[in-house]
Amino acid sequence: MKMSNKKMSLLGISRREIILTGDRPTGPLHLGHYVGSLKARVKLQNKYKTYVIIADTQALTDNAAFPEKIRKNIIEVALDYLSVGIDPKVSTIFIQSLVPEIAELTVYFLNLVTLARLERNPTVKDEMKQKGFGGNVPAGFLTYPVSQAADIAAFKADLVPVGEDQLPIIEQTTEIVRKFNKIYQPVLVEPKALVSKTGRLPGTDGKTKMGKSLGNAIYLSDSASVVREKVMKMYTDPKHIHVENPGKVEGNAVFTYLDAFDPDKKMVEELKKQYRQGGLGDVAIKKRLIEVLEKFLTPIRKKRIQFAKNPKAVMKILEEGTKKARIAASQTLAEVRKAMKLDYF
Ligand code: ATP
Ligand code: MG
Repeated sequence: MKMSNKKMSLLGISRREIILTGDRPTGPLHLGHYVGSLKARVKLQNKYKTYVIIADTQALTDNAAFPEKIRKNIIEVALDYLSVGIDPKVSTIFIQSLVPEIAELTVYFLNLVTLARLERNPTVKDEMKQKGFGGNVPAGFLTYPVSQAADIAAFKADLVPVGEDQLPIIEQTTEIVRKFNKIYQPVLVEPKALVSKTGRLPGTDGKTKMGKSLGNAIYLSDSASVVREKVMKMYTDPKHIHVENPGKVEGNAVFTYLDAFDPDKKMVEELKKQYRQGGLGDVAIKKRLIEVLEKFLTPIRKKRIQFAKNPKAVMKILEEGTKKARIAASQTLAEVRKAMKLDYF
């Protein structure tokens, strides 16, 4: 028998908490995704009911003319998930566009947010600048936080493990859900963001964020030689020209990556000390980073090669996951329609 959340809490039964996170299939996943979100998903998937969304609809908001790119990257993202250890037996991996209930909820949510509020979202503002839309911002792009709110609310997610750049979007989700619950009936759940210690991994160019659309990423699927090449070209301290000169650790991307990936924290502290004092060259710290990343990426690459041998099986995982996700979202939407008095028959 299915019980509503309200009934369950009246009976003192707590429901199992839900996680929803995901990625846009705009390219394979990178180290930023790992520290920002994948790591937490893998760790928490056995404790929480986990939904992982491959957000193709959202990816189209700034890629409308490139449907092939989105289609191709669905499997790339799925392969990345499986190779870092997202387990389809416990996590439900699904494709956003195949759960039309999310699109329906987006339409209802659009009435609960103002144009001014959309234009104020700092992440969207940054991204609009970065993408150089000029005066031609696609309406779908401006409103993507609303569709993301619908992704989260359709699954009644309590927790959303995301990178720091997504915080303003989760905040907007909470506002929309609160408004919905107040105007209609309290059927939706206010989510909380779960941000990792690293928060936001900078790009290899030292810019604030590693991003798949920014050309500054080290991908989980990059070969050893590509990783080596990218690290050797990485941004460090532009003023650190001679080995013997003191160098800056803050804002130095190589140290940020070492902090995020080197399990030997003591060694990292020692390297920082030496670098600050002078006498430690960029090549030395880069070599250390290459070693650390290789240790981390080797097992991921191996698993990826295995899964990639059988793309049909990977697509089957997505198909099954999407079926399950659709059932969950339909249940929420039935409650939503009832709350909005749209349950006519
Ligand atoms: P795009 O450039 O196409 O927007 P992206 O690299 O920003 O791609 P998304 O699919 O938009 O990746 O983001 C998926 C998730 O990964 C989000 O939770 C986001 O916060 C997180 N994430 C992406 N890049 C980073 C990063 N550099 N550091 C930490 N988290 C990140
Ligand atoms: Mg992004």
